[in-house]
Amino acid sequence: MMSKYLEDNHQHICCPLCENENLTSTFQSEDIQYGSSGKSVTVDIPVFICPSCSFVFSGEEAETVIHDAICKDMGVLTPSEITEIRRKLGLSQEKFAELTKIGVASIKRWESGKTIQDASKDTYLRLLAIPEVMDKLERINNKAKQLPTKKEPKFRSQFSPATISRAENFQLRRLAA
Ligand SMILES: [Zn+2]
Repeated sequence: MMSKYLEDNHQHICCPLCENENLTSTFQSEDIQYGSSGKSVTVDIPVFICPSCSFVFSGEEAETVIHDAICKDMGVLTPSEITEIRRKLGLSQEKFAELTKIGVASIKRWESGKTIQDASKDTYLRLLAIPEVMDKLERINNKAKQLPTKKEPKFRSQFSPATISRAENFQLRRLAA
């Protein structure tokens, strides 16, 4: 089976050993370990085979396929799914960060597959895919902008002189022997 990547980038890829450009592609099933608990997931990795020197190697597409498989195994959104949620909202990474209060660096890392979002951020991202949620979030942000920025005086309890006097004269009652 011809991989999509090979079709698109055929002219750019050659065998790293013999520079043959006439490569074939296939899938190699591998158990990929991830995380500290030694979890593993079986992934069909797209690989290139050089017919002239028999060298087998993988490209960028393999990285994406492995990363997506790990995300799916963990039950979290893949980088492309996160990008899709953001694009459907018509927002740049910067604007998306501003609205959601998620750091733009985090968004960039998740979308490029450098790191995987934790469960709470994943839930938040899934909620953001619901249009009503984004509308609500925009209203919350607008309200927040209207809040006074000057510091309000700190709340302090007011005690009556009688209360203060009672507190001053307070004594533990002796327990009956
Ligand atoms: Zn070769």
